[in-house]
Amino acid sequence: MKDNIKRIAMERIEILFEKAIQIHEEDSKLAQRYVELARRIGMKARVRIPRKYRRFICRGCKQFIHPGCTLRVRVKSGGVKHITFTCLKCGHIVRVPIEKRRVEEVASLSK
Ligand SMILES: [Zn+2]
Repeated sequence: MKDNIKRIAMERIEILFEKAIQIHEEDSKLAQRYVELARRIGMKARVRIPRKYRRFICRGCKQFIHPGCTLRVRVKSGGVKHITFTCLKCGHIVRVPIEKRRVEEVASLSK
């Protein structure tokens, strides 16, 4: 029973995030609402936001952020390669060390 609730919650979270990603360019407020809803469902059902979606939430302001829109992505080379994510809403910066493969993945996202 409990597992069932978690499964349904997870499905809803995925749907909400997919929708938010789809519509954020046209309607960023709606995208924000979807993400808030997804987070609330996650908290209620005690499921964690899947890793692939967690990068769309700013850890500073908890808002929906997206590469090329509300998120600035910089790839720094020299020494250890890392990506700098800057939330354009609150200025929160996250640095993620990466391998080359991931750089290309993120670079394609920000187009
Ligand atoms: Zn932020």
